[in-house]
Amino acid sequence: MSFKPISDIGEFGLIDRIASITAPTLETTPGITEGIGDDCAVYEISRSMVQVTTTDLLVEHVHFDLLTTPLHHLGSKAISVNVSDICAMNAKPRYALVSIAIPSKTSVDLVETLYRGMSETSRIYGLAIAGGDTSLCPGAMVISVTVAGDIEKENITYRKGAEPGDMICVSGTLGGAAAGLRVLMREKSVMMEHIRHGETYDKDVMSNLSDYDDAIRQQLLPSARMDIIGFFEKENIVPTSMIDISDGLASDLAHICKRSGVGAQIEESRIPILSQTRHIADEFQEDAMNYALTGGEDYQLLFTLKPENFSAISSHPDISVIGKITPKDDGLLLRDIYGMTVDIQSLSGFDHFSG
Ligand code: ADP
Ligand code: MG
Repeated sequence: MSFKPISDIGEFGLIDRIASITAPTLETTPGITEGIGDDCAVYEISRSMVQVTTTDLLVEHVHFDLLTTPLHHLGSKAISVNVSDICAMNAKPRYALVSIAIPSKTSVDLVETLYRGMSETSRIYGLAIAGGDTSLCPGAMVISVTVAGDIEKENITYRKGAEPGDMICVSGTLGGAAAGLRVLMREKSVMMEHIRHGETYDKDVMSNLSDYDDAIRQQLLPSARMDIIGFFEKENIVPTSMIDISDGLASDLAHICKRSGVGAQIEESRIPILSQTRHIADEFQEDAMNYALTGGEDYQLLFTLKPENFSAISSHPDISVIGKITPKDDGLLLRDIYGMTVDIQSLSGFDHFSG
């Protein structure tokens, strides 16, 4: 047996291998209409309704840093990132199971603050926290949240389903979460410097960083776009495909294209980016467009619609049409502000095991 490190095949390569090993189990339960490969697993619960389920792990030192992340915000984010996957299926969240693994020296107050954040945010989404598990984990805090939701079968939206000619749309703005993370990481290194020199430092980073507040909020407190799902329902719109942007626009659009068997062309000038995000990118001598394409963690919805839906969405202040679906052979292209097309297939987005 040869030793192949996971970094050789990457996170998605690993998931593909897991999917092929576990595929036979799908035959045991006929009602599963979607297994590994979409934002949620899908299970038919009646003739007209399907249940959707998703799970996400947040690991200390990988996904969050307690020096720069208030626990209340972290609890909220742990819920929002899961509800975002439920939204990506056009569904409504119903209940959550929350598991935590924590070092034994963690204070009770800290855990309570975490759960208050989860609880407040869950109530906003109409989500019940209905169970979970608790364990010891020396050295790091791990939070695992599973959320179940449901939707009428006729309205479920998968990553597959996009067709050439469909409009590509995105909610909100992109790149802010990556920009906010840059600022927080810089703040952390300043903090560490102070600590090293035995000086005190004001840990309330939010109050010191008002010029960066929108981007930091997008990083620490993303919200799931249930309002967009409500808008679709009100307007009788069912997107042809949808995903939430957790890994970056390029990577998540590539997922839609792969699952739908299509290509895509997006326009750089139409990608919505906050001016604050551009300022932060300038400060770090980086490219705000790169934050949007590969930064991830924006938790906005990326979806495709039939052109006849244009009038219904054109007046929505927080939905941008950024391009169109093309035949598969045309690939995944970005037309830049000078009219040049760039292949963005290779912009991989976030991979836990790369580098
Ligand atoms: P998302 O970013 O929407 O949460 P991921 O990229 O984490 O999605 O996962 C992609 C797909 O792979 C999902 O369908 C998820 O359920 C599945 N998946 C990820 N990790 C595992 C695993 N360890 N075992 C089984 N399925 C997995
Ligand atoms: Mg997702």
